[in-house]
Amino acid sequence: MRADDTIKRLTDTARGLRAERRGRGVEEWSRERLEAHQRQELQKLIRHAVARSPFYREHFRGVDLSRPVTLGELPPVTKATLMGRFEEWVTDPRLSLALLEGHLQTLERDEYLLDGYRAMATGGSTGTRGLFVFSRSEWSVLLGLMFRLLKGMGVVPRLPRMRLTAIGAPSALHMTYRLSESVDVGVYRRTQLAATLPLPRLVAALNDHPPDYINVYPSVGALLALEQLEGRLRISPSIVSTSSEVCTEEMRERMRMAWSLEPYDFYGATDGLWGTSCAEHRGIHFAEDHTLVEVVDAAGQPVQPGECGAKLLITNLFMFTQPIIRYEITDIVRIEPEPCPCGRPFRLVAAVEGRSDDILHLVGDGGRSVTLHPLALRSPLARLSGAREYQVIQRQDGLTIRLVPRESADARRVAQDARQAMSRALAQAGAGSTPVRVELACSLERDDTAGGKLKLVRSELAR
Ligand SMILES: [Zn+2]
Repeated sequence: MRADDTIKRLTDTARGLRAERRGRGVEEWSRERLEAHQRQELQKLIRHAVARSPFYREHFRGVDLSRPVTLGELPPVTKATLMGRFEEWVTDPRLSLALLEGHLQTLERDEYLLDGYRAMATGGSTGTRGLFVFSRSEWSVLLGLMFRLLKGMGVVPRLPRMRLTAIGAPSALHMTYRLSESVDVGVYRRTQLAATLPLPRLVAALNDHPPDYINVYPSVGALLALEQLEGRLRISPSIVSTSSEVCTEEMRERMRMAWSLEPYDFYGATDGLWGTSCAEHRGIHFAEDHTLVEVVDAAGQPVQPGECGAKLLITNLFMFTQPIIRYEITDIVRIEPEPCPCGRPFRLVAAVEGRSDDILHLVGDGGRSVTLHPLALRSPLARLSGAREYQVIQRQDGLTIRLVPRESADARRVAQDARQAMSRALAQAGAGSTPVRVELACSLERDDTAGGKLKLVRSELAR
């Protein structure tokens, strides 16, 4: 990497640390003060978007912008629309899809695009691939936020330096990799491992450099916890966080047993929504000083606190190169009606269940359609103590459970239990005629294009 890039990277990190210091009071703000900040920053963002983005100028044409507007007045956007009109969406006319694609092809670590941008892609597993760019100042804001979230979990710059291990996306195209790579200037002692590595290699790498803090996909964290419980892994992290996939209760329980700690939930999305669970561990606080979050139903109507929504609409107050205003994310969440006892001004999101899993539509009794939430399919398998990991796949001929048994377990017995538990759950849901088969496997393949993430419930049928 170029030497002047290293100097830039140091500067970006120093700015990120300063941004963290500036933002320190935010978590003590009142809700009223937070909302006043959001209203003020929103007007700035809208003025900028309309002035610099031809797409938003057209998209907001019917809205009277001569006075302060509220979010509800603005039409939402989808990733597919924005990506389809990329050149009109971005506020720097030098940025084109072709330029970004070309740059991403050659990206190895943390190289800059046009001397100042960082470009990355979101996994294409959910349909539309997203390309995102961050200017150096936007990146510093993001780093500041990341330092704050890490600090909230107890991960702080100190001497001797903490040993951090990030197990995640295997390539520089992905956000988690880049954030970790871009602060590789000596704040922490840092190791980065790809979630797609074979388990024995992950175990060996961790035993060689035992970390104080690990951030890991929960499915991998649960496998590592089992390695620890069975004596092959010998580490004693004081902090563990999981991100990017659903962390099920059985995965959490395994990590608790292995390391005697409560894993944090770390939520980060390339399109700008960030948050962590608080010390009380009762849900996620999104960083609402950076991102406005609306919870809506499938028709886009606001959902009352305490009820589950089908989508989130997010508005990022710090992304000016690619303004994100009322941008749809499919994620099933519920906002707790009561403020969190921890005193933060951010609302508490009780469940982030959709994340990456698919919702399945099955043909039920009498030919009617039955919709099954991933949780309904995961919970019957949650109690199979003989299973190392599993995945449910919907194919033309029914449901297939791919199952990796534990070494100590009777594989045939576990397969039989899994099939029976799933058939029972399907019958209860009114889809008892769905064929269920079990395939035994040694490990589950991870999808490189999705950053090595694993979907526990996945449909292979066309939507
Ligand atoms: Zn809290």
